[in-house]
Amino acid sequence: MIERCVGCNAEVQVIDGPIHRYMTSAPGCWQRYGELLGVLYTRPTLQMAVVLCVDTYAVQHPGTPNPQAIQSVAVHLLNLYDYLVRGRPARRPQELLSDRAFHSIAPPSSRASFWLEPPSFAASRTVFDMPLSGTDDAIETSARAWAESAWAAWSAHHNRIADWYVMYARS
Ligand SMILES: [Zn+2]
Repeated sequence: MIERCVGCNAEVQVIDGPIHRYMTSAPGCWQRYGELLGVLYTRPTLQMAVVLCVDTYAVQHPGTPNPQAIQSVAVHLLNLYDYLVRGRPARRPQELLSDRAFHSIAPPSSRASFWLEPPSFAASRTVFDMPLSGTDDAIETSARAWAESAWAAWSAHHNRIADWYVMYARS
């Protein structure tokens, strides 16, 4: 049986399994992401791909407007903006805006105004387009293509994210 992931819209095998607490997905999609990270973490030369994949998976699985999901989407979109638009090298430390900084900008009582309505990912690449083996170059190229594709899907909010970057991101 096949289902569509509620986050990234990928067609996935229906399985019984866990999902992340607020990055809501189909269990089969979450499992695939775990497999991907498992592969990437064993290859220290793929740090850039790890960073891009973590941000990209998060912005394709925005969940519902609860305080943690709102923070996650905002922080990961700011990271993608920094890497893909401003050209910051994708490496750790990943967080452009720390959780503590976000908390002071957007305390839970006012956080709803930071929710960005998620776009459709029907035309986007997904975690299933990421190879689980291959050369570093091939994996990095795929990671970047996935990140670009997910970032493009959020285009209705690009200006808002750029504004947040100016207002909040540490340099
Ligand atoms: Zn998914």
